[in-house]
Amino acid sequence: MKPTPQFDVCIIGAGVAGGVLAAYLGGNGLRVAVVEKNMAEQERMIGELLQPGGVIKLQELGLAHLLNELDAQEIEGYGLFMNGDNFKISYPTQNGKTLTGRGLRNGKFVQRIRQHILSLPNVTVIEGTVQQLNEVEGRITGLKYTEKNSDESKDITAKLTVVCDGMFSAFRGQLSSNEKKVSSFFLGMILKDCNLPFKNHGHVIVAKPSPCLVYPISSTETRILIDFPGNEAPRKSAELSNYLAETIAPQLPSQIVPSFMAAVAEGKFKSMPNHLIPAKPFTKPGVAMIGDSLNMRHPLTGGGMTAAFSDILNLGSRLIALEQSESIKPVDAAVASFYATRHKQNATINILADALYGVMQNEDLKTACYDYLKSGGKHALEPIAILSAISRDEQLLLRHFFAVALYGVGGMLKTSPSKTGFTRSYKMLKSAVHIVEPLVMNEKPNVLTRSAFKVAAAIF
Ligand SMILES: Cc1cc2nc3c(=O)[nH]c(=O)nc-3n(C[C@H](O)[C@H](O)[C@H](O)COP(=O)(O)OP(=O)(O)OC[C@H]3O[C@@H](n4cnc5c(N)ncnc54)[C@H](O)[C@@H]3O)c2cc1C
Repeated sequence: MKPTPQFDVCIIGAGVAGGVLAAYLGGNGLRVAVVEKNMAEQERMIGELLQPGGVIKLQELGLAHLLNELDAQEIEGYGLFMNGDNFKISYPTQNGKTLTGRGLRNGKFVQRIRQHILSLPNVTVIEGTVQQLNEVEGRITGLKYTEKNSDESKDITAKLTVVCDGMFSAFRGQLSSNEKKVSSFFLGMILKDCNLPFKNHGHVIVAKPSPCLVYPISSTETRILIDFPGNEAPRKSAELSNYLAETIAPQLPSQIVPSFMAAVAEGKFKSMPNHLIPAKPFTKPGVAMIGDSLNMRHPLTGGGMTAAFSDILNLGSRLIALEQSESIKPVDAAVASFYATRHKQNATINILADALYGVMQNEDLKTACYDYLKSGGKHALEPIAILSAISRDEQLLLRHFFAVALYGVGGMLKTSPSKTGFTRSYKMLKSAVHIVEPLVMNEKPNVLTRSAFKVAAAIF
């Protein structure tokens, strides 16, 4: 007789994904263990804007209260800025009320999630570092960890182990194809008492060479993220400070500049790599991945936490629905169904993030995108419904993506109906296809979409 596992589920990491998964499963009667290597609050520049679709997912998980008492700021939409021009787009409405996202301090949010799981009787939280997954006859049976301030290794057994150890996952390599690419770096600073042009809005500055994001994260703090294309991290130096003052500051809305220059002078810079990691897990009995260990996209559109919450609802509801028996087969079936279906919720979040980042690297497409959104009506309302993760309609996203390129072509041929205009138009369409095609292929497209892209790739 094999010994009964100690827990239904053990989770590696109590960040946003692992913490919320533990709260959902533990709050619904499952016996859960969580091993987290550092329970202290972290100063982080990631996961600070939760889209309205993510707020709704937390409500569906019964965990919306985790957003309380954080001094989180309601976000009502986005302001866009380019070459001295600007406009704003509101998030979709429901029953006459604008749906809102939240700007928050990630470190505080994670601590609030942890306080909650520490209060749940079914959840055992251990501060320690997971060293390895334990495997018996091809099945992951749990993990081996060392507790903080101890050298002694201990084991946990569980019917399912869920890896939620974040972007630098130590276990991704053995559980997935491990494809990854660094698209760029974000340099982050906190602006104090910044006077935002559009209160309670995210701000996208369509700057050269690359975009900047600005949004409130508490009643007195505003986050700015400045994109640095390529795979070299920006380093603190006089040259960097000069670049920020001379190249970035003149492109920011004037209200932001005083607090921006004060932050540059203070020099508290942080930088993070922006990864593209398509979800390509192997189905191995006894184990699953959720959060950044499984799937990452460019943070330009702030979709990471919403994708994780969508996955937690997908896998978690399947696990909660299982009859609590000693059999482990239904657990493996739940993981297989989760992996087979998760793209239905996350394809739009993933494709939009890196497609929009690709558009921002192409001068003609960038201008076309700004003008298209500014033209308003459906051109603004439907894309913002997708960005906010209220709509998860992949076909709608692709229609708007190509409509932007065609809008650009129309504008180009009107102002320059010459051979140069035609050449640039062709290049714009070609770039659009090349930006989006690999992203669509990562998301299990249906036969029709796959064939359409094959034809488009053959033409361009
Ligand atoms: C620059 C940047 C900005 C972003 N902005 C946004 C945004 O505005 N909105 C949004 O929704 N998303 C954003 N994201 C993405 C978002 O931050 C992530 O999707 C989200 O934090 C993922 O959560 P996670 O739990 O998978 O990882 P994490 O939050 O990183 O948690 C991983 C946890 O695992 C623990 N751990 C690691 N290894 C071990 C081990 N061996 N043993 C035990 N514990 C371990 C770590 O200590 C950590 O607590 C951004 C990402 C970046 C890079």
